Amino acid sequence: ARPRPVSPHDILRKTFGYETFRPGQEGIVTTLLAGRNVLAVMPTGSGKSLCYQVPALARGGLAIVVSPLVALMQDQVAALKLAGVAAESINSAQDREENVAIWRRVAAGEVRLLYLSPERLMTERMVGALARLNVQLIAIDEAHCISQWGPAFRPEYDMLQTLRQSFPGVPIGAFTATADEATRRDIVGKIFGGDAEVYVAGFDRPNLQLAVSPKDNAKQQLIDFLDGRAGQSGIVYALSRKSTEEWAAFLVSKGFRAIAYHAGMSAEDRAEAQSLFMTEKGVIVCATIAFGMGIDKPDVRFVFHADLPSSLDAYYQEIGRAGRDGSPADVKMVYGLGDIQLRRRFIDQEEGGDERRRREHKRLDALVAYCEAPECRRQNLLFYFGEESPPCGNCDVCLDPVHLVDGTAEAQWVLEAVKTTGQRFGAAHVADVLAGKSNEKGDTLRHTELPVFGIGKAQGRQHWQSMIRQLVGGGYLAIDVAGYGGLSISPKGHALARGDGSFRYRQDPVRTSRKAERARK
Ligand code: ADP
Ligand code: ZN
Repeated sequence: ARPRPVSPHDILRKTFGYETFRPGQEGIVTTLLAGRNVLAVMPTGSGKSLCYQVPALARGGLAIVVSPLVALMQDQVAALKLAGVAAESINSAQDREENVAIWRRVAAGEVRLLYLSPERLMTERMVGALARLNVQLIAIDEAHCISQWGPAFRPEYDMLQTLRQSFPGVPIGAFTATADEATRRDIVGKIFGGDAEVYVAGFDRPNLQLAVSPKDNAKQQLIDFLDGRAGQSGIVYALSRKSTEEWAAFLVSKGFRAIAYHAGMSAEDRAEAQSLFMTEKGVIVCATIAFGMGIDKPDVRFVFHADLPSSLDAYYQEIGRAGRDGSPADVKMVYGLGDIQLRRRFIDQEEGGDERRRREHKRLDALVAYCEAPECRRQNLLFYFGEESPPCGNCDVCLDPVHLVDGTAEAQWVLEAVKTTGQRFGAAHVADVLAGKSNEKGDTLRHTELPVFGIGKAQGRQHWQSMIRQLVGGGYLAIDVAGYGGLSISPKGHALARGDGSFRYRQDPVRTSRKAERARK
């Protein structure tokens, strides 16, 4: 008996550990699951593999993945095995015995995804043997190779044209990062005989104006952001259920129509909040990530992140709810060291192995890098999804360019202060020491007598807080997530302290960007 079908979302979550599909992925997955052919054109790094791996697992049986490079196959197979998926590859880098043993497992129905080069696959013997098995899906990676218009013409790819006859009724997905109109037509003709749906995924949302600011006074920052937006619909995302209620109450006290939305509310209350947002004008929903799934309101004019999201993927998803009608919409995030600390702690507390945690920390690094980026936000965001683009001219950085200042000497002061206070105090205390502000801890522990005490009095403690945040963002300082946010020096930080390398930082643009925001209205 065939096992009960598993939903693609469950597979995405449980096997791959992702909350949501990226743009394009879901449509491709659904189409392949429905048994129809797909040609997908998506940038490198945008997540093509998942588009066939998820349906391969959801359909059951065997999926054949055609991939041109042994190294690529090995990477994918290793990653899938780590996720507990029975994936294998038969290739020239393995000895004959190994290949034979793998083939036995394939023939016995024990393998879900089998990676092959076109040369391995397209022999009469291999195709014949595979055709007798329960093949449910075929995926062709780097499909542009099949086209004579493609940049890297490989004759073996040409033979893939016969697959649809050898495996009638089996959906085929062809994937490539580069295919202009002519190449696409060529591929669809050759592989599918004209019968395929074509997906071209792009990530750019040019009508969204992106901005990020260091959190100094989030409430004031939100009020400034909302200046001139009366009557517009928008979303304020916050981390905790309780804080969504506080934000809603705060906005109501300031005369806005605001409501809270989170998973702790009754189904009835949630439905009511949602319908208010959908049907009436000028409602601001203060929500956790629970809000947004399946909400398709075209005229959401702004999204404000009061807390750091979990990753750039989550961020993209959440800001993507603004401006669906194509008219300009503003998205802004405020974030601080506390946010990074909290997010790191969440990751460490998560279930799942070290590998998973390591990956999550890396994804958070990418988000922090986005927040601290001295270059165009959109460029930075799209680069994460594999798309190259020129500076947008429309984000906070483009409109108000960041001036990077050499701060190597100052960074060394910070590192010295962290070191001489014992690598266990948080940013607030280290900033106090540098700015020469005495506090109880400092007095007791005689930090007032350290050579670095007051060394940066002229710059003030705000400045040092900002420096510390950027040093954490740049990986020079690590933040203790289990305890109270104590700072310690990373290997990169030690190198900088020794005089290896240099450190450039941005002067926090909070005030100027506020002015710029006003000027635009
Ligand atoms: P491509 O094959 O298009 O070059 P990959 O399939 O290698 O891209 O994916 C690139 C990165 O994106 C991988 O690190 C992958 O784990 C990640 N990724 C893919 N889909 C998602 C998703 N839905 N959510 C979060 N990350 C994803
Ligand atoms: Zn820009």
